[in-house]
Amino acid sequence: MKGTVFAVALNHQSQREAWGEAFEKAPYNTPPKTAVWFIKPHNTVIRTGEPIPFPQGETVLSGATVALVVGKIASKVRVEDAPEYIAGYALANEVSLPEESFYRPAIKAKCRDGFCPLGEMTTVDNVDNVDNLTIITEINGREADHWNTADLQRNAAELLSALSEFATLNPGDAILLGTPHSRVPLQPGDRVRILAKGFPPLENPVVDERDVAIAHGPHPHATLFALGLNYADHASELAFTPPTEPLVFIKAPNTFNGDNQTSVRPNNVEYMHYEAELVVAIGKTARKVSEAEAMDVVAGYTVCNDYAIRDYLENYYRPNLRVKSRDGLTPISPNIVPKEAIPEPHNLRLRTFVNGELRQEGTTADLIFSIPFLIAYLSDFMTLQPGDMIATGTPKGLSDVVPGDEVVVEVEGVGRLVNRIVSEETAK
Ligand code: CA
Repeated sequence: MKGTVFAVALNHQSQREAWGEAFEKAPYNTPPKTAVWFIKPHNTVIRTGEPIPFPQGETVLSGATVALVVGKIASKVRVEDAPEYIAGYALANEVSLPEESFYRPAIKAKCRDGFCPLGEMTTVDNVDNVDNLTIITEINGREADHWNTADLQRNAAELLSALSEFATLNPGDAILLGTPHSRVPLQPGDRVRILAKGFPPLENPVVDERDVAIAHGPHPHATLFALGLNYADHASELAFTPPTEPLVFIKAPNTFNGDNQTSVRPNNVEYMHYEAELVVAIGKTARKVSEAEAMDVVAGYTVCNDYAIRDYLENYYRPNLRVKSRDGLTPISPNIVPKEAIPEPHNLRLRTFVNGELRQEGTTADLIFSIPFLIAYLSDFMTLQPGDMIATGTPKGLSDVVPGDEVVVEVEGVGRLVNRIVSEETAK
């Protein structure tokens, strides 16, 4: 499977029960209203037989589930039409460290190398009923857990419909349907086997990560990491205290857009804003690189506009994919300026103009987490690959943009991007 792997948190009734009391309190205050999406980037995906790397000193939990595999381009699909967009299903293991919170994307827990074993796809005809399927986990040949997909809050068709409402899905993209609250702990030396009727089994050994050499082939979809609240002035504008650890989230390829393109403002929203950002392009494979060595893996820089629809911000995995991974809402320049041309990446002016009026201005001198810090932080728990990119965050100066507006973001010496906002009607 060479597509994007989407997954959904909190989709099993046992999770909502376990977290129910906490969800009545801050920062959540209310249970989630929409599906809580996250992405398993390409460094996580392995096939049956390949080792799950076990990070030293961590608790690693197996999360047996099923992946829905998309068969044709799917955009704004109704639940009743969903079956015709499904090519088949595969067993999957949504491996994770324990989650202590659902407030921020759990990159460190869920996006580690090899943390998404995916089995061979079986066609729809081989599966009696994906919404009433018993999924068994065996550890070293003994059953350790089983659960039934009938206990999911949103079923396969409902998940495909909900995701395709804002993200166009392509053949080969996959959606992991969710996992129960109770998971199976793994230890180095274990063999974890996942089984369900009609499916080829998914079996992976668990191996100390120091003994795993992960062969990362070229992948059609680079990972775009984005940073929330990485400018001190922007954090204060939003009345937040600056984060003590980078607030990283991942954007899916459906959201990428080019220069001189249009971006859609959904109907009936109050606040859509631009975000001018310096983007770091990774040029070499990076695994556990130190801050001192980090700039060696940088190929160069570009510029992006990380639009957001603030109306859709819920207090779950904030910012969620509905806010930040919508179709065409991340214009990004394909022109990578070589790093040698930008000797001082931490002293660049960023500006946004709306219809020629300067609305946003800042400097990369105000980054809370520097470029070397971010590369060292991410590469400590996942392998960065050539083509991966890090959007480093945005300074203060956000404002609403509406259909008809021309939005220009620029980063001094790196480039500029022109984009026009259109309405849903104009986009059709
Ligand atoms: Ca941003």
